[in-house]
Amino acid sequence: MKFKSIKGTKDVLPDESYRWQFVEQKIRSVMHTFSYHEIRTPVFEETALFARGIGELTDIVGKEMYTFQDRGGTMLTLKPEMTAAVMRSYLQHNLGEQKPLVKVYYIAPMFRQEKPQAGRLRQFHQFGAEAIGGSSPFVDAEIIALSAEVYRVLGVKNFQIKINSVGCINCRPQYKEILKKHLQNVFKELSEESKQRLEQNPLRILDSKDENDQKLTTDAPLMKDHLCKECSEHFIELQSILRSLNIEFEIDGRIVRGLDYYTKTAYEIISKDLGAQDALVGGGRYDLLLKEIGGKQTPSVGFAAGIERLLLTMEKQQIFTGENIKPKVFIVSADEEGRGYAVEQAMILRRNNIPCEVDLLGRSLKSQMREADRQKVEFVIIIGGNELQKGLVIIKNMKNGIQTSIGVKDLVSHFQEPGENIETRENR
Ligand code: AMP
Repeated sequence: MKFKSIKGTKDVLPDESYRWQFVEQKIRSVMHTFSYHEIRTPVFEETALFARGIGELTDIVGKEMYTFQDRGGTMLTLKPEMTAAVMRSYLQHNLGEQKPLVKVYYIAPMFRQEKPQAGRLRQFHQFGAEAIGGSSPFVDAEIIALSAEVYRVLGVKNFQIKINSVGCINCRPQYKEILKKHLQNVFKELSEESKQRLEQNPLRILDSKDENDQKLTTDAPLMKDHLCKECSEHFIELQSILRSLNIEFEIDGRIVRGLDYYTKTAYEIISKDLGAQDALVGGGRYDLLLKEIGGKQTPSVGFAAGIERLLLTMEKQQIFTGENIKPKVFIVSADEEGRGYAVEQAMILRRNNIPCEVDLLGRSLKSQMREADRQKVEFVIIIGGNELQKGLVIIKNMKNGIQTSIGVKDLVSHFQEPGENIETRENR
């Protein structure tokens, strides 16, 4: 084969696209019930937006971004995450001036040059939401509730919400020193990656995937036990709001978002059916991000969730039972004369919202019937021969094989659900 899709990317084929549509539609509907509105931003941005917004030392910036120079010499990057892009748009369009709390959601492709493996793609899709402008733990709770609601509505089982607090600029620096001191004792035994993280980003060592790192840090001090008064109260209040909303959660002191702009709440939703890459959702509060990209400090909370991992979980849990939308009716023509007429009738049915298929390949009657069978339509309309001259067509019910003959002019009303599309019918 001359061309193949790029490693770490996937085609969504016609027989699976309905799953994406189903999931996307549910996501949108949940978002709308929580009063979040969609934001769409371009697929690429200036590299500096992500390089600054994400923090120089993260993996995404370090090695994972798809960055290129355009002809004008500008460095551009395919977006590896949405939050920085949303914040850029929020600032550029002064969205904060219109509303004190701006609530947006997105469904969009993201690009990261990661090592492809199960659950890790180079182009993947995220849905997510951001609530910009609120410092109350009620906003954190709403974001957590919103993300969990999507999984509940979709019927996903066995997912777990894990929450933590990563403190703020007042309490985190002291804690970082305590943690570093603790980790110095085991420095030699840490993985190379964790060694590199010790100076700038020691919190990330706590969520290392390396088993030995995990052993070495079992009794490491945790941020949640070193919070300042404000962060501690925020964390306690968040928990009590979540309880009042009947949202089950666990506290996990190892959930860290690792980046300096994150403050207070950090959370994940994980699926027990996903194996090593088990995170469905990552989210938290990032009160310092907007300032980092040139705005004024604005408290914000958000989450991002992988759609491929959601679909994988739903497939494992056998949640999909449906299939692609199929035509209700297949029009076959018995002879050459009927062919053009069949296409015209198909157009009329389609205009009246009746999903309909018709042969375009000049196939024999027998092979048209075979095709109708393959597509599992409910009815076949047979056009041609003597009937047509009398203004009649034959309808075959494919379930019981019964054939009836009706006037062509009655076709639409015959297939229309009662009460449907009366106006269109009259305008025909
Ligand atoms: P992050 O932006 O890294 O916090 O990721 C948020 C969510 O996006 C994760 O919990 C995953 O569900 C999903 N995700 C992140 N990276 C990938 C990837 N490379 N391939 C597929 N899904 C991903």
